[in-house]
Amino acid sequence: MAHKMAGPDRKLVSTAAATTPAPSASVVLPKTSESSQLLKIRHSMSHVMAMAVQQLFPKARVTIGPWTESGFYYDFDNPDPFTEADLKAIKKGMIKIINKKVPLERVEVTRAEAETKIKAQNEPYKLEILEGLQEPITLYTLGEDWWDLCAGPHVEHTGQLNAKAFELESVAGAYWRGDETKAQLQRIYGTAWETPEQLAEHKRRKAEALRRDHRRIGKDLDLFSIADEAGAGLVFWHPRGARMRLLIEEFWREAHFEGGYELLYTPHVADISLWKTSGHLDFYAESMFGPMEVDEREYQLKPMNCPFHVLTYASKLRSYRELPIRWAELGTVYRYERPGVMHGLMRVRGFTQDDAHVFCLPEQISDEILKILDLTERILSTFDFNTYEINLSTRPEKSIGDDAVWDLATKGLIEALERKGWKYKIDEGGGAFYGPKIDLKIEDAIGRMWQCSTIQLDFNLPERFKLDYIAADGSKQRPIMIHRAIFGSLERFFGIMTENYAGDYPFWLAPEQVRLLPVTDDVQPYAESLLDQLTQAGVRAKIDRSGDRLGKLIRTGEQMKIPVLAVIGAKEAEQNAVSLRSRRDGDLGVVAVADLLRAAQNTNAQRAAGLELKG
Ligand code: ZN
Repeated sequence: MAHKMAGPDRKLVSTAAATTPAPSASVVLPKTSESSQLLKIRHSMSHVMAMAVQQLFPKARVTIGPWTESGFYYDFDNPDPFTEADLKAIKKGMIKIINKKVPLERVEVTRAEAETKIKAQNEPYKLEILEGLQEPITLYTLGEDWWDLCAGPHVEHTGQLNAKAFELESVAGAYWRGDETKAQLQRIYGTAWETPEQLAEHKRRKAEALRRDHRRIGKDLDLFSIADEAGAGLVFWHPRGARMRLLIEEFWREAHFEGGYELLYTPHVADISLWKTSGHLDFYAESMFGPMEVDEREYQLKPMNCPFHVLTYASKLRSYRELPIRWAELGTVYRYERPGVMHGLMRVRGFTQDDAHVFCLPEQISDEILKILDLTERILSTFDFNTYEINLSTRPEKSIGDDAVWDLATKGLIEALERKGWKYKIDEGGGAFYGPKIDLKIEDAIGRMWQCSTIQLDFNLPERFKLDYIAADGSKQRPIMIHRAIFGSLERFFGIMTENYAGDYPFWLAPEQVRLLPVTDDVQPYAESLLDQLTQAGVRAKIDRSGDRLGKLIRTGEQMKIPVLAVIGAKEAEQNAVSLRSRRDGDLGVVAVADLLRAAQNTNAQRAAGLELKG
């Protein structure tokens, strides 16, 4: 094998690590619901698109065409699916309509008039829509010949639409009324903006989101899969993903022990009577898997861990001196999700919650919530989530529990947020029927907000399971129960985190931290001994044994987003060193093995992002 010699002097092949352009701050992209102008534009665009489609495809029947937060769509009943070429032709047709400055006019009609007009045009879906409308019935005309049932609002004429600021993005199948038993329709998605700059920024952000898609990264980096043969929404963690999950779990456990929690393990199934007592059979049955019959008893897979922690609490008599009790569990639950809604790791049928329950005295609420907020910050910030949006939801009209308890609990949540110094919004009446709650969203690297953590007070379960403790005066009292999750679910958090890092995980979390790249066969024994030293030091390392040339070795390592590539040639072997290339920091030059070991161990101990060689 003819390998080039690698030496300490030689510059490593320089292929810059993928960089993420920051979202352009100067281009604001309002949502439709935030801009009355965009609402008019997108509403009108869907009419323009429908008109263009019917000009090109006279057999296409129209159905509905609403706006979305970044654009619009329209569902058509067309004999053939629309192709990419069709979309291009439709776009051209739309530009023609825009350039003609066609007026859009609001017309009020009686039901009978509307019916006559629709029947004349043979539009069965419109007729069905009309049945559901209240008078006065309004339609919007677009020029002389085309009109649609619509409440508006619209631009005055199509000249107010920007022909350079819209795009038809995709076409997908859809069902009439979203019902699988009804007609299959063709949905065309579009986006429309006030300026071409906004459109360009929208496209850039879409491409960036696509580049970060955790499903793609999960496949490229061999982290996980969802095997169709096994059923929908069930996750298989591959060795690399499993290693990462384990690292996350280890950190999670460490943080919880330090935060004064004990850990529990509870079963995956339970007798149906438990779900009767908990109330899940009344209001959650549709989301539960089961029942299955065993020994003439009915068992159901757990959709939540709460009743198990409650049973553990109830396993003996509790004194006020034991409270607060903080119990956490990485509890795997199963919930039924409709086939259409599952999405990668973000929405699945089997997932592991980082669930915890705190049982405390009423006067301990504020302190306990503050502790939870501190732990939440510690855990989320370790994954570089430092910007949060917090919502406090208060008592809804339909609710259980005494006014005094609700007051005390809500005040406790507010007090904790104030003590923490976190800004929050109040969602008046947005709480669950059984207690107030705090929801926390995290912001990712491209400005998207993700709902993760939740802290929920519960006056219901302690009542249903008759939980109590012996108070100082010897009386029996109900404890306050707090449910909380920080990640929400490990699967979903893994997906969010992957998109946040775009697969460029920090050093401490990378499944393979250092890849050794021997450039000749002669240095193979040295590479093996180095691998052994790294492994013994708790560093996750591998040797690339492909025998490829250096350029290829480096490219492969970069494709797998390995944080540190260690090139080994004859000179490195002689000096008991490696030539390091860091994905974050570029060429680090020749580094003694002892320094690499120390730096890698330090970085792991601190759960830091990049290998720190100095100090
Ligand atoms: Zn719970």
